[in-house]
Amino acid sequence: MTPFAYSKPSSIEQALRQAGPQSRYIAGGTNLLDLMKEHIANPRTIIDITGLPLREVSETAGGGVRIGALVSNADLAWHPLIEQRYPLLAQAILAGASPQLRNMASTGGNLLQRTRCPYFYDVGSPCNKRQPGSGCPARNGLNRNHAILGASAHCVAVHPSDLCVALAALEAVVHVRGLGGERRIPFADFHRLPGEHPERDNCLADDELILAIELPAPRFTTRCHYLKVRDRASYAFALVSVAAGLELAGEHIASLRLALGGVAHKPWRVAAVEQRFVGQPANPHTYAQLAQALLQSAQPLSGNAFKIPLATQAIIRALSEAQAQGGVQ
Ligand SMILES: Cc1cc2nc3c(=O)[nH]c(=O)nc-3n(C[C@H](O)[C@H](O)[C@H](O)COP(=O)(O)OP(=O)(O)OC[C@H]3O[C@@H](n4cnc5c(N)ncnc54)[C@H](O)[C@@H]3O)c2cc1C
Repeated sequence: MTPFAYSKPSSIEQALRQAGPQSRYIAGGTNLLDLMKEHIANPRTIIDITGLPLREVSETAGGGVRIGALVSNADLAWHPLIEQRYPLLAQAILAGASPQLRNMASTGGNLLQRTRCPYFYDVGSPCNKRQPGSGCPARNGLNRNHAILGASAHCVAVHPSDLCVALAALEAVVHVRGLGGERRIPFADFHRLPGEHPERDNCLADDELILAIELPAPRFTTRCHYLKVRDRASYAFALVSVAAGLELAGEHIASLRLALGGVAHKPWRVAAVEQRFVGQPANPHTYAQLAQALLQSAQPLSGNAFKIPLATQAIIRALSEAQAQGGVQ
């Protein structure tokens, strides 16, 4: 590990003033410390934000919920407001990592965890995400776990989070503050596709701190399902995951949300495809058509063509499970 300075600010303003291109905030440390030990991240200064007042889960005036960035993944999954009103989010969190990790991992840190591409973690390999311009060996190498959607010639890595897939489906908003003030970022705009700059995972500036995640008033509470397909039954990142929410009018789809994990550089959601299926019969045949529409632009790599039929079946199953949650209409 490269030597670094450590500070623990007692106010948000103090934290922001200390931040810059050579510094990193640290919350639970479950990702950043690994990256530092492997010399993938080499910050000069670590700003420990665990003393900041960002641990509250509270109701908003609009009927939604505001989640402080330092709320642990465990506390969030078991919080009554989340369990009762946003079960999709609770399911997604509990599908991730292990109980010990979820106790340490923070909500803000989960959004900013970095890819699990093996070439990114191997400092002996080129990697455009770690060292811009050096190349992407995954494109023609070990790419079983990699992207089938939205990748670029420069990077085929996927975002590893489960929590973020549910946040995409629930249309969360990220509240951030930098020296220039505060802004609210719709979840769909928070993470980036790799394009020519895969080194940038999201749209945050160096000094910006995530303050909170806001969930809009609850929807899809009765009919929702998070399905994670992975190589092992626990403690593994998703090959494909699906966050599905349904509202029915009789036997037809009144509204739906569908976000995929494990397939792209960010949680994958196409609102226009969802909209196209409103009014259609709620059954596996429709769900298969929906999957086809969502995956029609998929471009598999040499080792991951299996993700297309896998994602297709996962979508059909997640929507069927969500439908079954509410019983017969
Ligand atoms: C073995 C293992 C298995 C895992 N399995 C899964 C899994 O299946 N599913 C899943 O979703 N995740 C999984 N994870 C990832 C884990 O959930 C993340 O490491 C964790 O959520 C990161 O949170 P943290 O608080 O520890 O972040 P840290 O490691 O402290 O920080 C991560 C990044 O976020 C930045 N940061 C943290 N908080 C803020 C903030 N408020 N504002 C701005 N920047 C901030 C830091 O600067 C750093 O760049 C796994 C991790 C491990 C080690």
